[in-house]
Amino acid sequence: MKPVDQSLQSSIRTIPDYPKAGILFRDITTLLGDPRAFRRAVDELVHPWAGSKIDKVAGIEARGFILGGAVAHQLSAGFVPIRKRGKLPHDTVRIAYSLEYGLDEMEMHRDAIAPGERTILVDDLIATGGTAEAAVKLIQGIGAEVVAAIFVIDLPDLGGAKRIEALGVPVRTLVAFEGH
Ligand code: AMP
Repeated sequence: MKPVDQSLQSSIRTIPDYPKAGILFRDITTLLGDPRAFRRAVDELVHPWAGSKIDKVAGIEARGFILGGAVAHQLSAGFVPIRKRGKLPHDTVRIAYSLEYGLDEMEMHRDAIAPGERTILVDDLIATGGTAEAAVKLIQGIGAEVVAAIFVIDLPDLGGAKRIEALGVPVRTLVAFEGH
């Protein structure tokens, strides 16, 4: 693995059995709190699109907001929040998606992204890809283009990145953790 990945990987803290037994929670607050790691992660995430025209960066609540704001600034793009149902004040588009147990819904302001706008989707981590797939469909549903989906962390054993690539959306991740 490349040195950049190792230094980023070691800046991420793992909390066993959070939020419940058997889960290894990959905590990026330690990466965000490390000035060099935070800058490095954002620089590496945007690298393929430096200098190209990106209209919007859409971040998934809540950790995707922190990374997405920095990514949008770096690309001189606008930032769009994708939130849990009921949090956005204006007219929204909504999509349901399945979690481990049951369904959840996410929303985006209907006028946040115009048809045809080139958009990058951001979150901290991709696991099964269910959350990111719903967000891709929400953005594509209003006629915008999802140029890429980018994540600091991939859990490759759960197949999320492949699931998003199967939708025709390129995926960029920086570090991978085996298992789940
Ligand atoms: P998924 O829809 O399965 O790809 O799950 C991705 C979402 O759940 C992201 O918003 C992640 O922040 C969160 N998530 C899933 N698994 C973990 C994990 N092991 N550690 C930290 N966050 C996780």
